[in-house]
Amino acid sequence: MRKELALGMMRLPVGADKKIDYNATNTLVDYFLENGFRKFDTAEVYHNTESEHAIRECIVKRYARDSFEIADKLSSWRIAADGSAEQFFQKQLEVTGVGYFDRYLFHSMEERLYPEAVEKRYFDFIFEKKAKGLVREAGFSFHGKPELLEKVLTEYPEVDFVQLQINYIDWDNPAVRAGECYEIARKHRKKILIMEPVKGGLLANLPEEGVSMLKTVSPEASIASWAIRFAAGLEGVDTVLSGISTMEQMQDNVALMKDFQPLSDEESRTLARLREFLHRNPQVECTACGYCQPECPVKLPIPGFIRLLNNTRIFGDTPQLINGYKMNVHTPDECIKCGACSKVCPQHLDIPLHLASLARWAKGK
Ligand code: SF4
Ligand code: SF4
Repeated sequence: MRKELALGMMRLPVGADKKIDYNATNTLVDYFLENGFRKFDTAEVYHNTESEHAIRECIVKRYARDSFEIADKLSSWRIAADGSAEQFFQKQLEVTGVGYFDRYLFHSMEERLYPEAVEKRYFDFIFEKKAKGLVREAGFSFHGKPELLEKVLTEYPEVDFVQLQINYIDWDNPAVRAGECYEIARKHRKKILIMEPVKGGLLANLPEEGVSMLKTVSPEASIASWAIRFAAGLEGVDTVLSGISTMEQMQDNVALMKDFQPLSDEESRTLARLREFLHRNPQVECTACGYCQPECPVKLPIPGFIRLLNNTRIFGDTPQLINGYKMNVHTPDECIKCGACSKVCPQHLDIPLHLASLARWAKGK
């Protein structure tokens, strides 16, 4: 059985100057297309706005338009105060040179962005582009709570698909509730695309004991392949997106999806044991509700810091987590322990205590 794979153009190979390496990207694109896959996913923000240019140089200029499909996104927070969705969209068409988008998504829908999306009629904007043939399928990528997903799908039943972040570790994570989101999308009979099946690479970098649990059952399979097979094996999943950086990852992904084998019962049981093992260290039960955030006088990204702390307890010191930590403008030791955040936390978390714990982890990194 074959499964659809989309190449996410957000972690392309880069050179020493951190710019996209177009030759290496061409090689990945060629291999992907030669093996019968045709979907690519980009956004204006990816690779510091270089990804859409890579779409044009590595795909549009080198292949016939009917041999590939491009998904792009309306990133509402990137629309200039004096700009419009129309200008943003026209620029995307111009930069990519695609002529039309096979899929166009409202980018990263979540509680904070929804009121503005309604007020500025962004979904209607996308539907109008679809009616004019400039977009073939309309959808949105989603990072919010299941309640919001239910609301969006009820209020905008015209959307063709929804792109969800689903992976085996976040399936019942209270801060993500991936399983609930999946069920809601199924209930609304929407096409489901899955992003971040390997959780930004974290599920390819398991602690040693986790690796040996998987290798005992399947010595040849890559660690990342378990995560991809979990996601792609869910019923009703149309496409799995993978942010591929190397030829080794490309070959692994292509081989997996070309001749897709769902997880066997034994493999599913192994994954359940692995999940239990990865959660052996207690997690901070933050639901990422965000109530604490506006209360903080130092403007610390509290839910993001707690998510990072939980990830360090699951995965240890991985390069992804250390790099992610370094991208923050603030550090957890800036907390002045005023307690304003904890007063409003519905989970009654001792937030300063958890930030101190993260600060200990971050020391010297
Ligand atoms: S205790 Fe720390 S994190 Fe909480 S509001 Fe005060 S400064 Fe911000
Ligand atoms: S208020 Fe509590 S549960 Fe909500 S995001 Fe903040 S720490 Fe997490």
